[in-house]
Amino acid sequence: MKAFYAAEQKRHDPKAFLSSGAPKPNPEQPERVERLLAGAKAAGCTIERPRNHGLGPVAAIHTPEYLDFLEHIFERWQRIEGASEEVIPNIHPIARGGSYPASAVGQAGYHMADTACPISAETWESALWSAWSAVETAEAVLAGAPAAYALCRPPGHHAFADVAGGFCFFNNSAIAAQVLRRGATRVAILDVDLHHGNGTQGIFYARPDVLTVSLHADPVRFYPFFWGYADERGEGPGLGYNLNLPLPRKSSDAVFLKTLEAAFQRIRAFAPEALVVALGLDAFEGDPFGGLSVSTPGFARIGEAIAGLGLPTVIVQEGGYLCDALGDNLTAFLSGFGSKMKGAL
Ligand SMILES: [Zn+2]
Repeated sequence: MKAFYAAEQKRHDPKAFLSSGAPKPNPEQPERVERLLAGAKAAGCTIERPRNHGLGPVAAIHTPEYLDFLEHIFERWQRIEGASEEVIPNIHPIARGGSYPASAVGQAGYHMADTACPISAETWESALWSAWSAVETAEAVLAGAPAAYALCRPPGHHAFADVAGGFCFFNNSAIAAQVLRRGATRVAILDVDLHHGNGTQGIFYARPDVLTVSLHADPVRFYPFFWGYADERGEGPGLGYNLNLPLPRKSSDAVFLKTLEAAFQRIRAFAPEALVVALGLDAFEGDPFGGLSVSTPGFARIGEAIAGLGLPTVIVQEGGYLCDALGDNLTAFLSGFGSKMKGAL
């Protein structure tokens, strides 16, 4: 299976975030790339560098206001006397009904959902290359590959059309789905990350051409708190095109795999022509977030089960944090997937 990744994606190196109000080292570390690269290679992937795809495929998902903000905010932030080294918001609109602020501090609060996505000098370029890895992977599948893997880092599924959040800047899975729409009338996104794919849901919430399905730890006491509940079904023309499957904390392989069947039933009924898997590996029992209890062999079975849908598939890396098995979990997923889909590995 082809995998796409560019070295620039490693440059973004966030230092801090707040966890339950306390400053902690940011878990979205560049070292994740090394583990994931090793995991992809162990599964037989060949790693290729994506091309520069320009802003077009990113602007198909994200607003020009947000892109302008992300490109320039670090430089603007440096001009504020006494400002932090990284751009971190400290004030947010409680609703979006007010005015768009001119100030860097105001815009940071407008475009950043939380403190987990600090912006430094390297963020813009790293996030762009991460998005281009997703674009290249989707184009490989459009060109006939049964499946391909995008080693996207920084990750993307918490990013809305004009808001960063939860370590995410560009919604790589959404960008991949939009590229697939060039050749597919209907595209499904299946998000198996530990956390609800709130940004992806938000981007496609009113659209019937992209079905969004997410399995995740119940948000009642877990990030992203405000989204991910079973009664969020879409709106307007998109009503009925979003399915959330929240899981009890510490759910095991058996519960996860059984819940996947419900996801597959909805996906089959949508009859998509292509699939994006938002592949978080943080549902792992040993992940630092500790929300669910999927095992390493469990990821192989999840991969096998998803391959059973028989759809051209773009696999996009989302979460999964530093622990001894991070690379092994990717190997398990990709090997399991490849064992059930002819020609995928
Ligand atoms: Zn996650």
